[in-house]
Amino acid sequence: MGLFLAVLLARGAPVSAQPPGGPAFHDAHYHPTDYIQQETALPAFLAMMGDRVGRAALMGIPLQQKWDWFESGDRAPDYYLRSDAALYYYPFVDAMVAEAVRALPPDQRDRFDPMITGFNPTDMYATDHIRRVLRLYPGVFSGIGEFSIHKEVVSPKTVGHTASLRNPALDRILEFAGEAGLLTLLHNDVDVILPHEGTRPTHFDPFIEVIRRHPGTTILWAHAGIGRFVEPTPGYVGLLEETLRDEGLNHLYFDLSWDVVAEQIAGPPETLDAWVALVNAWPERFVLGSDSVVATDAGAYLGALEAWRPLLDGLDPDASEKVRLGNYERLFDSARERVRVWEASQR
Ligand SMILES: [Zn+2]
Repeated sequence: MGLFLAVLLARGAPVSAQPPGGPAFHDAHYHPTDYIQQETALPAFLAMMGDRVGRAALMGIPLQQKWDWFESGDRAPDYYLRSDAALYYYPFVDAMVAEAVRALPPDQRDRFDPMITGFNPTDMYATDHIRRVLRLYPGVFSGIGEFSIHKEVVSPKTVGHTASLRNPALDRILEFAGEAGLLTLLHNDVDVILPHEGTRPTHFDPFIEVIRRHPGTTILWAHAGIGRFVEPTPGYVGLLEETLRDEGLNHLYFDLSWDVVAEQIAGPPETLDAWVALVNAWPERFVLGSDSVVATDAGAYLGALEAWRPLLDGLDPDASEKVRLGNYERLFDSARERVRVWEASQR
């Protein structure tokens, strides 16, 4: 951080609300807490967003990596890949995010769309948690997520029942999100780490069945189902095209985020061409995110969005504008409005 900026922040001077030329991106996927619930201070994050990023969806990490002394002794793990000990749900994260947002002046608050995330998606009581957060923090939240059903390494490390697409607790959550108007960001790897050769990805059809059952809920599929170890198979774009053509899935959108996913999509030229054609054909259905976790440096943070340049540069200008900005505004503005109406109906 430059000295001038540091001085401004120390004095509590306002960070500009909206740049004159307009931002290059909105960020649909930012984590202001990490796997041990360390936080980015939002004023410092606003300075990193600067005039390049207009708005950001804020989602804490719902899981806490346990520091199990018997497993790692004095070596304190700060990420789920740095320990064999369990992850557990940390509901207090929603209060942390709400308090951080409420401490900002209104013009800065307006740049954030906070999401409720601290619930256990295998628990039939998860919706009670979501309702409680909305009641305690009215006017704050626009959505739920990012929460995970199948996620490499994370699912088996999480205490209790393994999250599953077959669990009715998930249907209850999605049903309630539709009723309250909460935009839903769901992480579900489309496949297991070692795919079964020659078959459709393991979690693809079960995922689509769940989505189809909840037409009143707007759902963003995090990373379009791809992960660190789950690579897009050669026919994957064809499968996504299948869902985009399907009118029963018009409420399903795709979140393009995480630099490791950007590399998989934008690296090999044939893969990139297929994705450019896909997004150009359905430009309303994709949003962009950084998936940064507790950003500390503006260059690295903006780099996670710029990682999508090869894809964005291949798009028609209108499609690029929708993916970078327009779709975010449409989806989150509508969620804000619907959730406020629902909150008012509960008083
Ligand atoms: Zn994420």
